Amino acid sequence: AKQQGRSTYQWYSQEFNEEASYRVALRNDLQDAIDQEQLSVYYQPLVDARTGKTRNIEALVRWQHPTRGLISPGDFIPLAEDTGQIIALGEWVLRQACRDMVHLHSRGFRYCSVSVNVSPVQLRKEGFIHTVTDALKASGLRPESLELEVVESAVLLDTDLVINTLHAIRELGVHIAIDDFGTGFSSLSYIKLLPANKIKIDHSFIKDVIENRSDAAITQGVISMAHHLGLEVVAEGVETEAHATYLRKNQCDLLQGFAFARPMPFDDLLTFLNNQVSA
Ligand code: C2E
Ligand code: CA
Ligand code: CA
Ligand code: CA
Repeated sequence: AKQQGRSTYQWYSQEFNEEASYRVALRNDLQDAIDQEQLSVYYQPLVDARTGKTRNIEALVRWQHPTRGLISPGDFIPLAEDTGQIIALGEWVLRQACRDMVHLHSRGFRYCSVSVNVSPVQLRKEGFIHTVTDALKASGLRPESLELEVVESAVLLDTDLVINTLHAIRELGVHIAIDDFGTGFSSLSYIKLLPANKIKIDHSFIKDVIENRSDAAITQGVISMAHHLGLEVVAEGVETEAHATYLRKNQCDLLQGFAFARPMPFDDLLTFLNNQVSA
């Protein structure tokens, strides 16, 4: 038993070291990624539940690593948050998304707005509001065409600072969506404090919404609460036509998921929107 204990320890320890050195390598590479244009922004349409037309587009960062291939944001965003690199990365995504949206508008899709994910680390950084105004000014995008996605838990630390920043963002005319709603373990009373326009129901509730009574109850409850608060509701992770039908029937406003489109490069988004118009 003793021997087994030791080998288990060695195994864990080796795995831990590999994990640690992977993170150190990624951290160094991430700086190159930001400097050398290895990052790109993909776009996923959010469609109006009634008309099926794209109204909003979420910007999702991608990292094409020279040797490791495509790395998912789920792997490098938390790392970038730990190191502070999320500040530069997030600003790059915001600027790129604003520029691309101006391009999209010039192609006739003025009714589309863009949603950019903002890390709690960015929100807590003094001067974030200037980053937003600079990105708008540099691109020429109307503030009303920009939405920032914020997770509920962003307000748990530095509540006053974050709430003030969010109010300043709203005063610019920029919209705010609460992302991954229902997963943050935060008190519902934060909803009152957050100057939001929209709630995005996390895909973990949507996945089994048709067969699971708890998920259905939560989804219907969130939609009803949001509407009473004057907020729009998005369902994330809408993977099937059955999901979409269910959510339409339950008055969800916007649908996002593989049932409609996957995140795609900007050129493919243009094609997607053109096809939608001519369909
Ligand atoms: P998120 O903000 O919740 O973004 C939605 C995620 O769900 C995306 O994963 C998207 O590809 C995925 N998704 C969309 N439709 C479906 C579906 O029908 N089924 C399933 N199973 N998944 C679907 P992605 O692109 O890998 O991004 C993961 C997370 O990384 C994002 O989750 C967000 O938290 C973070 N992220 C991505 N880009 C950025 C960014 O520019 N800045 C920050 N701070 N975070 C980002
Ligand atoms: Ca999001
Ligand atoms: Ca989300
Ligand atoms: Ca998520």
